[in-house]
Amino acid sequence: MDCIFCKIVDKEIPNYTLYEDETILAFLDIFPHAVGHTVVIPKKHGETIFDYDEVMIAELHRAIKKIMERLQTVLQPEGFTVGWNHGDAGGQAVPHWHVHIFPRWNGDGGGSMHSVVKKNDGINVAEIYKRFG
Ligand code: 5GP
Ligand code: ZN
Repeated sequence: MDCIFCKIVDKEIPNYTLYEDETILAFLDIFPHAVGHTVVIPKKHGETIFDYDEVMIAELHRAIKKIMERLQTVLQPEGFTVGWNHGDAGGQAVPHWHVHIFPRWNGDGGGSMHSVVKKNDGINVAEIYKRFG
């Protein structure tokens, strides 16, 4: 499988591991946007969250909490931004589901989740809701 994260799981590519269990691996991002920027992945390959069952999704979130606690203890950030880029339009570069954990500090120059998409005041929420039947 020509997947960079699968190669990390298989130890073909070295990494700075912060957390590992049977199903989950977390390692420091090699091009960090913050001190302690961490990537959390299921060891089993899948492109997006849609490719995993509820058990794996729960496992991943359980690991995220543990890793955040470790980052909090060691780096003492003043906040976190946690999430993932899903699909091309969502900015996903590596097609193996991964969650980014960004430790945050006041004045670090970053924004909130809302800053990743331009606010569109023309959206009619009531009209959109009708599409959900
Ligand atoms: P994406 O844009 O797909 O959400 O994020 C992919 C992330 O993987 C990027 O932040 C990038 O820096 C990181 N990354 C890509 N290749 C490697 C690698 O070989 N090792 C590590 N540790 N991180 C990587
Ligand atoms: Zn993979």
